[in-house]
This record gives sequence, structure tokens and C-alpha cells, in this order.
Amino acid sequence: MEDCPFCGQQLISCDCCYDLLGLFDIKKYDASTAHLPPEIYKDGLTDEQAEKWEAMLNAKGRIPFILYPVICSKCGALWPAFFMVSDEEWAYYIQPDKRQTVVCAECYNYIKRLIDETKGSFTTAQRHAADGRAVRFAP
Ligand SMILES: [Zn+2]
Ligand SMILES: [Zn+2]
Repeated sequence: MEDCPFCGQQLISCDCCYDLLGLFDIKKYDASTAHLPPEIYKDGLTDEQAEKWEAMLNAKGRIPFILYPVICSKCGALWPAFFMVSDEEWAYYIQPDKRQTVVCAECYNYIKRLIDETKGSFTTAQRHAADGRAVRFAP
């Protein structure tokens, strides 16, 4: 998906074309047509408007779509299969500077084993917390 050079969102879903072509009119049109003329709301830009918008995009400088792969931040595997882990469990096992990255299932299980051996398992920690006992983990 090509990104919009004006707002950085996906070009196909942003409102910049309506905004920058001056098509929004909040006095004339209500929310039922997203404050756009009904024919624009229904059919999109006219050929003439689309041409003008394209010229504006080209003048601004378009952002070509480049596909960046998803990579496991541990082993570098490309496009690892996704798996589900609760936010709490993720935070328990994955160190802070890696929490925003992707880790493949194999690496996650490896990390999990290491953490289990050093600070105990997540489920044990959960149980202790539920018991109301003070559980402290090394930072
Ligand atoms: Zn935009
Ligand atoms: Zn991996």
C-alpha cells in the first residue's frame, strides 16, 4: 500500500484528497456524507479531481510502496508464523527493549525456557501474585 506523502497514512484510506482539494464543507453537508458533496461521497473523485490530486501527489513527491519483511528479532527468520501470547506473559518473558519486535515461536519457547530457569515460570509468578505474596523479580 502506498503511503500518503501529506499525512503518512495509507493513501487509499486517508482524507487528504478531499481536504486538499477543498471538498469538505461542514456547513453545507452533514456527517451522513462525511461533510462531502453526496456525489463525491458516493462515487469518489471526478476524473478531473483525480487528475488534480495526482498532480498534487507528484508535486509533493510520492512514497513508493516498499515491502519490508517481518523478521524474528532473535534468529532473523523471515515472515515467522504468528502466535498468541497475553500481554502480561509477553512482558514477563521478553526484555523491555525487544517487546515491540517480533519473535518466532521457536525462539519464544527458547527464551521462555531460559527465563523459567532463572526467574521462575510465568504461571508460578501469576499464582504467587494471586496469593497476595510479595514476589519480586530482578530487573
Ligand atoms: Zn493523507
Ligand atoms: Zn526466531
